[in-house]
Amino acid sequence: MEKNKIPYKIYLPEEEIPKKWLNLKAFMKEQHDPFLNPATLKPCTKDDLRPVFCDKVIDQELNCTDKYIDIPEGIRDFYKMYRPAPLVRAYELEKALGTPAEIYYKFEGNNTSGSHKLNSAVAQAYYAKEQGITSLTTETGAGQWGTALSMACAFYGIDLKVYMVKVSSEQKPYRKEVMRTYGAEVIPSPSETTKVGRAILKEHPNTGGSLGCAISEAIEVATSTPDCRYVLGSVLDHVTLHQSVIGLEAKAALDKYGVQPDIVIGCAGGGSNLAGLIAPFMAEKLEGKNNIEFIAVEPASCPSLTRGVYAYDFCDTGKTTPLARMYTLGSGFLPSPNHAGGLRYHGMSPILSKLYHDGYMTARSVEQTKVFEVAEMFARCEGILPAPESSHAIRVAVDEALKCKETGEHKKILFGLTGTGYFDMSAYKAFNDKTMNDFIPTDADLKEGFKSLPDIPQNAGVRG
Ligand SMILES: *Cc1c(COP(=O)(O)O)cnc(C)c1O
Repeated sequence: MEKNKIPYKIYLPEEEIPKKWLNLKAFMKEQHDPFLNPATLKPCTKDDLRPVFCDKVIDQELNCTDKYIDIPEGIRDFYKMYRPAPLVRAYELEKALGTPAEIYYKFEGNNTSGSHKLNSAVAQAYYAKEQGITSLTTETGAGQWGTALSMACAFYGIDLKVYMVKVSSEQKPYRKEVMRTYGAEVIPSPSETTKVGRAILKEHPNTGGSLGCAISEAIEVATSTPDCRYVLGSVLDHVTLHQSVIGLEAKAALDKYGVQPDIVIGCAGGGSNLAGLIAPFMAEKLEGKNNIEFIAVEPASCPSLTRGVYAYDFCDTGKTTPLARMYTLGSGFLPSPNHAGGLRYHGMSPILSKLYHDGYMTARSVEQTKVFEVAEMFARCEGILPAPESSHAIRVAVDEALKCKETGEHKKILFGLTGTGYFDMSAYKAFNDKTMNDFIPTDADLKEGFKSLPDIPQNAGVRG
C-alpha cells in the first residue's frame, strides 16, 4: 500500500485558515534599525505616523514583541471567500524536468485581483473601517495592488482613490476598469487634483508619471482630507505580517504529510510575499530548529539585494516617507523597463534586509528572457499562466531542481506562485515575438542611484 501519497493539491479545511498572523520580527534576536523621521533623524513615533496610516496598522508596524497577532473575525470572513489557497505538488513540472527533486508551490492567484496583495488589502481596509475612516488613498503601478484594495474597500464600504502611474493607466486600460467596477476612483498620476501633481505637471507637462510621484499625491490627499488615510501594499512590517498567512497555510499543509522543505524560494519586489511565505519556516530557523535555505529572487534590472547597499533611504522617489534602513539602489534609481512591474522597486523590506544582512537568507538576480522561458514551460505543464513576477521564483526553483538532476539529490523545494499573468500579455507577446530584451544596469548606473541616498551620518561610507 502506498503510504500517505501526496495529492496534487493539498487543501486545508476552512476552519484551518490561520487565526493569528506570525510577527517574524519578534523572533529575531537582532531586529532591524528603527524608521527615522527625516526631519529630526529620531526614531518615528506613533504620532509621526498617525496622520498618514490607520492607528491599528501603526501599532502592528511598531510591535516588536508579540510573536503572534490575532486575525479579527471580520478579516477571516473575507479570507474565507478565497482562502485557504492551494498548496500544489508540481508533479507535472517534476516530470517535464526529469528531476528527482520534489517541487511544491503555494498558489496565491486564485482570487479576482490575481495576486497575494489581497491578503494585506483586506486587513488594512478592515482596520480603517473599524476606526471610522471613510476614505483611503493609495498608488498603483502595474495595477495589482490597486485592484486588491478596490475589492477590499468595496467589501467594507470605504471610498477609495487610486493614483495610477499615467503610463500604466494608458497601457493597461482594463486594469483601470476592474478597479472602477469595484467602485474605486482611478486618477492617472501626475494629476491636477493635488499640489504636488500640479507642480510636477508644470515642470514636466508630458511626463508619464512614476510610482514615487503617485505616492506623493496619495499621501497629500490622505493628510489633507478629514477621516482619510493612506495605505501601502508592500515593504512595511505590517504588510509582511498580514502576508504571513501564506507561509502559515503552506506549512500546515506540508506538515500534514510530514514534508519539511530544504529550500524555500520567492520573488522579491518590496519583499511582502517572500517575508510572508518564509515566516513560520524562518521563525523555526531563528530558533535553531531547521537549516532551510531561503532564496530571494529579483530581476537583474532592479537588483536591490544582490547589488544594492544596506543604508537608510526614503521609501518613495518623492522623498516624503520616513527613512528605512534597508537594501536599496537609492530612491532616485530609475529601473530600466522590465515586464515584472511588481518587482521594479528600489528598496526592500527592512525585515528581509536585516535577515539577508545577517546571513539567514541568500538572493539571486535573473534576466527576464530566462524568466519567461520557464514561465511558458510552467504554463504548458502545470496549466497556470504565471505572473511575470512569480515566474522569477519559478526560474530559481527550476534551476535548483535541475541541479538535483545532476547530483541525484531528492531535495524538497517550495516556492511562492504569487499570481496570474492575464494582464501581462504584452510581456508574453514580446517574448513570443522574440523582441524582449534584458536590461542590466552598469556599475556606473548604480552609482548614480546611490548618489540619491540621504546625506545622514548613518550612511557615511555607503553613498556612491
Ligand atoms: C506586487 C507583486 C509582487 C511583488 O511584491 P512583494 O511585495 O515583493 O511581494 C510579486 N508578485 C505579484 C504577482 C505581485 O503582484
